[in-house]
Amino acid sequence: MKKDIVFRDQVLAPIWDKIQRGTRLSLEDGVAMFRSNDLISIGKMAHAVQQEKSGDAVYYVLNQKIEPTNICVLECKFCDFAVKPGSPEGYEMTIKQILDKLTPNIHEVHITGGLHPEWDWKYYLDMVRDIKSHFPQTDVKAFTAVEIDFFHKKFKLSVEEILLQLKDAGLRTMPGGGAEVFSARIRKELFHQKIGEEVWLDIHKKAHLLGIPTNATLLYGHIETYEERVVHMMKLRELQDETNGFLTFIPLAFQPGDTGIKAKNNFTSAIEDLKTIAISRLMLDNFPHIKAYWVMLTEEVASIALHFGADDMDGTVGGEKIAHDAGAVSPMAMAKEQIIKIITDAGKIPVERDVFYNALHVSGEGIIGKIPYLNSVPFYTDFEKKQFTLLPIAPRRMGELARKDILDAGLFSLMDYFAQESDLDVLPYCIATRDQVKSVMLFSKEGWRDLDGKRIGITDDTATSIRLLQVLLEKKYGVRAHLERMQTGINDCSRFDAVLFIGDEALKRNKFGLDGFELVFDLAREWYDWQKLPFVFAVWAVRSACSDALKSALLDSISRSLARNENRLDSIGTIHGARIQLTPAETTEYLQGFNYRLGDRERAAMKLFKILVAEVIVAS
Ligand code: SF4
Repeated sequence: MKKDIVFRDQVLAPIWDKIQRGTRLSLEDGVAMFRSNDLISIGKMAHAVQQEKSGDAVYYVLNQKIEPTNICVLECKFCDFAVKPGSPEGYEMTIKQILDKLTPNIHEVHITGGLHPEWDWKYYLDMVRDIKSHFPQTDVKAFTAVEIDFFHKKFKLSVEEILLQLKDAGLRTMPGGGAEVFSARIRKELFHQKIGEEVWLDIHKKAHLLGIPTNATLLYGHIETYEERVVHMMKLRELQDETNGFLTFIPLAFQPGDTGIKAKNNFTSAIEDLKTIAISRLMLDNFPHIKAYWVMLTEEVASIALHFGADDMDGTVGGEKIAHDAGAVSPMAMAKEQIIKIITDAGKIPVERDVFYNALHVSGEGIIGKIPYLNSVPFYTDFEKKQFTLLPIAPRRMGELARKDILDAGLFSLMDYFAQESDLDVLPYCIATRDQVKSVMLFSKEGWRDLDGKRIGITDDTATSIRLLQVLLEKKYGVRAHLERMQTGINDCSRFDAVLFIGDEALKRNKFGLDGFELVFDLAREWYDWQKLPFVFAVWAVRSACSDALKSALLDSISRSLARNENRLDSIGTIHGARIQLTPAETTEYLQGFNYRLGDRERAAMKLFKILVAEVIVAS
């Protein structure tokens, strides 16, 4: 991420230095950015960081919002949506009404609403269960921490029990509302009846540990100070360091409406909105995504925000009522085509996603999959894009998109290449180990032979390492274990006897260890000691049907990148390495452990692995 920015406000220059060195930003840095008038430079910094994280991809989801009731036992001062029990304006939806409102092609239903004084626990569980059974392809994102806390108190069940029952009914993720601003001062003034930061953070932490990823919001533009905004972000960043369970951060511009907190039409300015989004991207270095919530921002500002650090547009949201009641000026629903147009006009790739940010569909041509791990920086640093666009995506997801004919080329996980060999031309480049790898690691409570019959948690990102593990277990050690996919990113390992991580997460855990798992095995080392061959984790391949011109341009880009970057392994990965807490020396040593060219030994290793995988599959 070496990018020169000419700052009008020199206060920003040392902040940019820190970002480029991979040094985390402080409270003072965040406040200095909010006080700066150099909006464009702040946006450029945020855009550069976002580009490294998600490239040109901008995510959206086909979703609908359901607010089952506006009747609420609380009276938050900034809320223009809720009415008191008994109010003639109150409404209550039956489950049938909710089901009738949903359309079959959506991938996310977002449920939040008032805290109803009379509904029983079964109603909420039935709501989630019935949505899931009537709309199997729709994932339920439901209930803020405020609602979870309300259920916990009203139904006299622990927070964990509430979350587990909801998860069992079909809840997949939770929205980020109710965080407002983590400030005792503001809470006292505006929402003293509502949960504060301790409870909000505790509920999200518990959700993460139970395998439920969540989102986080910030309500800004009312009475909060810049310090309070930044402190809020830093507290979220701290929890994310611990659990890695947040998917996206959504800065929500306060809608004054009839709240009486500000004049009715005193909306935040576009400058304030863009600055807050950009600073969120810079402060929240461990959050994968930043959302430009178009309902509150307006389409125009959301579109510009895509160059200020945001990489998510939210979705087609039907029936958005809370923002509308408080005077949001965006239309009630935005068609998919319109979202795609906004993203495309901004020069980005529209990526339709599910609730977990798995890519379901990508609009565009010349799209190349990019493995977002440190081990592939020698290919992608200063990659000459030419007619291509790069889509950062986990190895397993890359294979899924290739199967849908969405990707033209990519550094495919070996198993995905095998599965589509007849449609792909392999290029002479790969990610292969020399002996060990350090980033495909099994953390175990038991030795290999004692894993027979035990449960092993597998990161959801892998397509090849899971097969390598199976081959090692069954063919090298003669044992069989139960392999179960874990929710990506969530640190939920305690229920397993061993867990497999890959990529940056494995590298980080390899350095710092994993509590409760004393034994650590490097799968490439295990393979090498057994077969005396390298292990090929991924190969570059291009769709056979692509034109010769495209293939030759791609080959040229890859070979030029690699030739340039192989001579500077000591510098190209340092920022990426710093983000996962590796020293420059550790980063260089790690990158030197790979061979990026597909030679005879690599081809022999691929052939042997393919035979062993087939034997394991036949036996299972
Ligand atoms: S913000 Fe939520 S909890 Fe507060 S009054 Fe509105 S609906 Fe009720």
